[in-house]
Amino acid sequence: MSTYKNFTVETDADGIALVTWDMPDKSMNVFTMEVMDEIDAIVDVTVADAAVKGVVFTSGKSSFSGGADLTMIKSMFSMLAEEQARDPATAAQKLFDAAGRMSWLWRKVETNGKPWVSAINGTCMGGAFELSLACHGRVAANSKSVKIALPEVKVGIFPGAGGTQRVPRLANAQDALQMMTTGSSLTAQRAKAMGLVHQVVEPAELINAAKQMIKDGLKAVAPWDEKGFKVPGGGIWTPAAAQLWPAAPAILRRESAGNYPGALAILKCVYEGLQLPFDTGLKVEQRYFTEILRTTEAFSMIRSLFVSMQELGKGARRPAGIPKTEFSKIGVVGAGFMGASIAYVTAAAGIPVILVDQTQEAAEKGKAHSEKLVADQVGKGRMTKEEGEKLLALITPTPDYKALSDASLVVEAVFEDRAVKKAVIEAVEAVIPETTIFASNTSTLPITGLAENSKRADQFIGVHFFSPVEKMMLTEVILGEKSGDKALAVALDFVAAIKKTPIVVNDTRGFYVNRCVFRYINEAYDMLIEGVPAAMIENAAKMAGMPVGPLSLNDEVAVDLSQKIMKASIADLGPNAVKPEHMALVDQLVDVFDRRGRKNSKGFYEYPAKPAKKFLWPELKTLYPQKKASEVDVSVLKQRLLVTIALEAARTVEEGIVTDPREADVGSILGFGFAPYTGGTLSYIDGMGVKNFVALCEKLAASYGPHFKPTPLLKDMAAKGETFYGRFDPYAKVGEAA
Ligand code: NAD
Repeated sequence: MSTYKNFTVETDADGIALVTWDMPDKSMNVFTMEVMDEIDAIVDVTVADAAVKGVVFTSGKSSFSGGADLTMIKSMFSMLAEEQARDPATAAQKLFDAAGRMSWLWRKVETNGKPWVSAINGTCMGGAFELSLACHGRVAANSKSVKIALPEVKVGIFPGAGGTQRVPRLANAQDALQMMTTGSSLTAQRAKAMGLVHQVVEPAELINAAKQMIKDGLKAVAPWDEKGFKVPGGGIWTPAAAQLWPAAPAILRRESAGNYPGALAILKCVYEGLQLPFDTGLKVEQRYFTEILRTTEAFSMIRSLFVSMQELGKGARRPAGIPKTEFSKIGVVGAGFMGASIAYVTAAAGIPVILVDQTQEAAEKGKAHSEKLVADQVGKGRMTKEEGEKLLALITPTPDYKALSDASLVVEAVFEDRAVKKAVIEAVEAVIPETTIFASNTSTLPITGLAENSKRADQFIGVHFFSPVEKMMLTEVILGEKSGDKALAVALDFVAAIKKTPIVVNDTRGFYVNRCVFRYINEAYDMLIEGVPAAMIENAAKMAGMPVGPLSLNDEVAVDLSQKIMKASIADLGPNAVKPEHMALVDQLVDVFDRRGRKNSKGFYEYPAKPAKKFLWPELKTLYPQKKASEVDVSVLKQRLLVTIALEAARTVEEGIVTDPREADVGSILGFGFAPYTGGTLSYIDGMGVKNFVALCEKLAASYGPHFKPTPLLKDMAAKGETFYGRFDPYAKVGEAA
């Protein structure tokens, strides 16, 4: 048995070498330079060893592999930046070589002369599936944990290690494009149906089945290396392809509005590659991959959606020196809309929950939400009946506060009313020990003010969930003036336990996410009042990369909730806190037309009974004199919607609300879907350059109002040629703290 750092290789009596990938210091296997060097060496050793007849490649962990390691990607970008400053031509060549390293290594596996079989035991993503595709056989375990995907497009790049060449040579072109341009996951069965894996077997049989393929005489030659190979469906010059290819760029444009260069590159790689010999196809892919790696979109998306998201998820903002909390019980007070969902996600993470409401009946109603979700999951085969019962048994509904006495954290989600919250804080503190942390899920009340009702303000913190809690991956953790390190650590441990990504922000009205969201909605109000047709506003938002138009989003949030928040802002901050025209628009919708949003099926949209689709309320156009479509510049609408949000994000940094640019970026994408191709609000500014952003703001301010005026911080950064990631370098801070 030869041993490597990340692999073990054991050759059995039949001459089959079992290569098991099990990185010693990681919970999931990922590709590093070292891992690739070791695979390279394993190929050489197994080829040289006459006793080895073939190789089975598998993982020693519960998953197969998550793909590339973020430190490798980070080092590739810093190498590029350094080299770019010295000599752009060398930088391009070095990036080209680095971009091709994995691709040509997998090609070496494919052409090594001995059969390789990939035994896929769990999640198999990105480069790991591309390695599997280069193996001559692929066997996957019949298990829910097997998720196969080439998800690179989601971080602005594309499968650049042979994926764009091998998938369409195994599956039909339409399925191949669908899989790669969406980055969606396949089950083992679906991968088999598409022709991407050869066999699906019971987990216990996986290695035997893989070995059996070799014993049965699996050829060590890829289909495309055989004479007479034909692409499934016949390739590019067929009647079927003539139907697919002219439509493909149009479909992609409909889905992504041309904002994702990585997705378009997939189409180019497949279209060109299928007309070329395999090795030339790989070279075409390598060239496009290099080109895409140099785009602002790829850089920003990888940074925010891959690197920063993982770093925040792993507790980048967690104070050091406080032991990790193992939650044996969590309290949720208020079993309404939010509390019921918070209880569900907590129980789904295996943590017992005490769910408190004013009466037993109300608490049980909250639990009923989980019962419904569990029944749905069981019905869809995503959960067994036993798993469902176990989950539900973790939730104890009760009106009795005393049941909270041994919870390590209590999350409050009662009515958004200061007096009600005060009473609840006092009632909870009367029963919990000194060590328990109290978290409020308030969305509008500043935490510092609420904490004044607490006897231990250092143990008090905000944990702001987003609806629907089951789906939304973000949780905003809000530090009141007196919130202590332990409160922060426990809150972050909780967010990690329920598998959400946290951002930590300082206290302010609306915190970070809602401040940005209201700017987005307010800009749409301005546009409506100017007479821009509502459909143009909604479409411009989608073309700018927003998942949901601002009017549709306002309907989801509820128009009367906006009204309530606007009124509260005026009451607390004075009449200038809200534009009178905005207040008039919302008052008219709610008070005159009873249009409260999705919840009463009437808002900016009409919501007819299903299966009919929602449509914009036709009477909207009677509220303000309408402009003709030809009088409206859609590119300016797009800019206004993104710039107003990004400016608000910059203000939160200037005010010290958000202190880490990673959090502004990740929070904006996970919280409200801010045009992901930009990498988030601050990356959007950095990506175009602060100087250009300031110039754009000044231009918009001249035509659309002073809310677009660039702030002093932005002007200062523009003058100094700074970026947010440079001036507020999150890694420098780590260094200072250490
Ligand atoms: P909700 O009205 O659906 O639920 C509130 C629940 O609190 C009710 O079940 C009520 O019976 C219970 N309650 C009231 N007083 C209580 C008391 N003294 N003891 C125990 N239970 C009591 O409201 P919601 O939408 O779930 O909002 C709850 C909190 O979450 C609010 O602070 C809100 O701002 C915040 N929030 C809401 C959303 C959202 O989208 N609805 C999003 C984020 C945060």
